[in-house]
Amino acid sequence: MNHDVRIENLEALNRAYVQLAQWAHAYYVLDAPLVPDSTYDDLFQQCCEAEVLHPEWIDPLAVTQRVGGLAESGLETVPHQQPMQSLDNVFTDAALSDFLSRVFKALGHQPDWVCEPKYDGVAISLIYDSGRFVQALTRGDGVAGEVVTHTVKTLRELPLYLQGGAVPSRVEIRGEIIMTRSGFKAYNEHATTQGEKTFSNTRNAAAGSIRQLDPRVAAQRPLSLRCYTLGAMEGLQKPDTHQAILNLLRTWGCPVSEDVHYIQAGLTFQATLDALCEVYHCIQAQRMTFDYDIDGLVYKVNDCADQAILGSSARVPRWAIAHKFPAEVVSTQVEGIDFQVGRTGAITPVARLKAVQVGGVMVRNATLHNMSELVRKDVHRGDVVSIRRAGEVIPEVIEVMTALRPEAARSVVLPTVCPVCQGDIDTSDIIYRCLNSQACPAQVEAAFIHFVSKHAMQIDGLGPQLIHQLVKSKALETLPDLYDLTQDQLMQYERMGARSAQKVIQSLLSRRQTTCARFLYALGIRHVGVNTAKLLAQYYKDDWVALSKASLDDLSNIEGVGPIIAASIRNALDDHHVQTMITALFKAGVCWPCVETDEPIHQPLKGFKCVLTGRFDFISRSDATQKLESMGAQVMSQVSKHTDALIAGESPGSKLNQAHALMIPTLTSDELKQLLSGESFESILG
Ligand SMILES: [Zn+2]
Repeated sequence: MNHDVRIENLEALNRAYVQLAQWAHAYYVLDAPLVPDSTYDDLFQQCCEAEVLHPEWIDPLAVTQRVGGLAESGLETVPHQQPMQSLDNVFTDAALSDFLSRVFKALGHQPDWVCEPKYDGVAISLIYDSGRFVQALTRGDGVAGEVVTHTVKTLRELPLYLQGGAVPSRVEIRGEIIMTRSGFKAYNEHATTQGEKTFSNTRNAAAGSIRQLDPRVAAQRPLSLRCYTLGAMEGLQKPDTHQAILNLLRTWGCPVSEDVHYIQAGLTFQATLDALCEVYHCIQAQRMTFDYDIDGLVYKVNDCADQAILGSSARVPRWAIAHKFPAEVVSTQVEGIDFQVGRTGAITPVARLKAVQVGGVMVRNATLHNMSELVRKDVHRGDVVSIRRAGEVIPEVIEVMTALRPEAARSVVLPTVCPVCQGDIDTSDIIYRCLNSQACPAQVEAAFIHFVSKHAMQIDGLGPQLIHQLVKSKALETLPDLYDLTQDQLMQYERMGARSAQKVIQSLLSRRQTTCARFLYALGIRHVGVNTAKLLAQYYKDDWVALSKASLDDLSNIEGVGPIIAASIRNALDDHHVQTMITALFKAGVCWPCVETDEPIHQPLKGFKCVLTGRFDFISRSDATQKLESMGAQVMSQVSKHTDALIAGESPGSKLNQAHALMIPTLTSDELKQLLSGESFESILG
């Protein structure tokens, strides 16, 4: 479709809807845009114009209508074509063993298994008529669910049209709607500042969002979708294994879990049990690094013929089981409340706890987030509290069990001065702040820790312990002091041998060659995270002078920056302490290559789309990503049919199987080395 031509009839509008849905899917699900954003925006705009002129043409389920249609009279209830069953749970390896032996007895052989994460979200049934999304239902009582089409269609990952040729005349696709942890945290932080209700966990947040009557509310929530099976299907042969169902869902463009594992058939009973438990313990160990909550794994018999033999009880299938993770919420006693001061001076109340195991980890502290949380939860010294570990390094206090409060429990006095430097504090906000930013030891230490961190200046060997000692002994006072450190000086500190000291100095020297984005992020300006720093560096083409002289208005007008971040940047860069510090850092040799705007940058890998998986012995994944990107490559997070190559190091994950399935070439660690040394992708494969 030529984007200069107006949409003049219903047919053209419908074609445009399909085109937009396809582009949106490539962008949001495959992470591989097919067209520039401007092309998408143009066509979207034309659809909107046509809709204004011809409201009678509007399709309420079109991509332009994602936030339209209020469920004014509450949610309607509709029966599922095929009931939505729940799953039986086991909590121990022994109970899993019992389940496996029942399956073995019924089948007479050990079947093959598929293991998937059990998402902690809201189960959903998505109904498609001739490949078009028409309705979304909650599980409800399993027999009938509530119609939530109006909110579910706001999810960017939801395919409005099934892709890939063969689509059934009607199908129920089953999946889970989840809220990411990062989105949940950001949402709650925002809600707190607005005095709005916060959610207690990601599942409640997802459920609360989906059951909203107003789709505009749901559209603002960071929701995500994972599809995992089919319900009733008409007009197309159902695949005969669960794996094939997952592949079919992928072909249709439905988001499917990346962490699916397969256990082959015909193993001995013990080998099957061991294999399932190995996946379980592996995912359990990794789960805190995921951006979504999972509460266990689901094991499904892969072969649908085997599933039919096993059948179902009234409530649950006999061919699948959920293996749950141990409780993440436990209770313990508060021994005291400490106030910790962070990099930006924020004072956080932290409960010191009687040590307790949570989800397999020993815990001694739990955060109370801010003073108003402390006051609201009314935590006393000596109270019994329930705590939860949910992705964060430090768990949080959920609630006080006031019925168990001992008589000797004492309420906590809020600080009136900085607990570390005794300086003045700002108590006007729910987050108290120490105002002594230049000299407060807690803030100075945190500033150094941030400056040397992975996404900032990437200095090896300078851990928090060493920084603590260096700040305490006044060897480090402002950031440029780092570059005056010597090997002999470092060797005077605890546990610092000649080699470790040399490593720190070498790292400091070599990492002076950096990028504008890293440097900006390393300064630790409030609200300037990794992405904002990248955005600004890109906008100003790595030109520090231009960036540091930008006016408040200029900064606010950059898309993705806005007035709060702009003010924070201006405040920091106008501070003469900060200016002196930056000058000294440049003088110490911190620099980055300048981008010559009128000369084309040499990008030998321009247009090359790749995915990295596994470990590489000569380079970290984030360094490899940065180098590949600087050479023009597009490094994507997921394998799709648009991927040119998968670069697989040691212990590659499920991405390797996906690449094989999609017949995408894979490159080895050595071939990555060749790529980075400037060889072309074509010559390596050829
Ligand atoms: Zn202080």
